[in-house]
Amino acid sequence: MDSVGILYMVVPCYNEQEVLPETSKRLREKYISLIDRKLISPKSRIVFVNDGSKDDTWNIIKNLHETEPQFFSGVNLSRNCGHQNAVLAGLTAVKDICDMSITMDADLQDDIDTIDNMVEKYNEGFQVVYGVRSARKTDTFFKRFTAESFYKFMNAMGAEVVYNHADFRLMSSRVLQELANYREVNLFLRGLVPLIGFKSCSVYYERAERFAGESKYPLKKMISFAVNGITSFSTKPLKMITNLGIIMSVISICAFIWAFIVKITGLSVHGWSSTMCSIWLIGGLQLFCLGIIGEYIGKIYSEVKQRPRFIIDEFINKNEN
Ligand code: UDP
Ligand code: MG
Repeated sequence: MDSVGILYMVVPCYNEQEVLPETSKRLREKYISLIDRKLISPKSRIVFVNDGSKDDTWNIIKNLHETEPQFFSGVNLSRNCGHQNAVLAGLTAVKDICDMSITMDADLQDDIDTIDNMVEKYNEGFQVVYGVRSARKTDTFFKRFTAESFYKFMNAMGAEVVYNHADFRLMSSRVLQELANYREVNLFLRGLVPLIGFKSCSVYYERAERFAGESKYPLKKMISFAVNGITSFSTKPLKMITNLGIIMSVISICAFIWAFIVKITGLSVHGWSSTMCSIWLIGGLQLFCLGIIGEYIGKIYSEVKQRPRFIIDEFINKNEN
């Protein structure tokens, strides 16, 4: 590399007033050390994306920018668009002014020291560097179990994601330019980035506890996130419905033969319970399958409308120095 790259950190924030002072302090220290070690350019910035927070988050971000514009920038979204869209909004805002970007959550669960490794990998020529959790010691058993099942289920359903990698990753500006060409509304970045390709690698870190405040990803949101990921990246559930239909047809042929034998041997009429059971079973299966198909139709519906995925109200950034 002839010159050191400009790094833009993108940090989505939704009601994060409790953690922002600490997050900004630690990221600032990290930036100073990276600049001192000539790993990144002094033109690098930390961009906090305010995802329609109801608390003081945006005021805190504005203050940070006003007092130290050489470190902090901010993007204000017009309303809450969700984590994935907030990340994309930040990346879109910085894609033409940086050489590399790192996305990270605001709650300090991702190890800040991993940033050094990511930047080193970028300097070695990698375009995408995934942050992968090596341990989840501090997560509760429930969170760990649900999160790990999430990755296994996703892969089993045909949506290939990097195991134990959340949205802590480095992407070069080249990758960001390509990412901008993916126009899907149902955004699932973890599935999308591997599709873009380019030379990529992983770095490992231990996931810490949330620094303060509560998780914005309760189980309900996690399930809908998984459903979104699967239906956006795989048609396997539709194939499973077809297979289920074939199996059910085979079973019903057997049942028919059985019923016929019972009839000619003169043992008929008992069988009320088996009739009832099959009605319930088939009814349930049909509803389930209709539901899966509906899920895909709903997705087509939101994709064809092509509504903007986020609206940036303001981007505060001073990049002259
Ligand atoms: N977040 C966001 N918009 C939302 C929900 C969450 O920008 O609608 C941000 C949040 O501020 C945090 C990150 O996404 O920086 C991850 O959220 P959280 O830590 O609550 O999720 P968890 O780590 O518990 O899965
Ligand atoms: Mg978190």
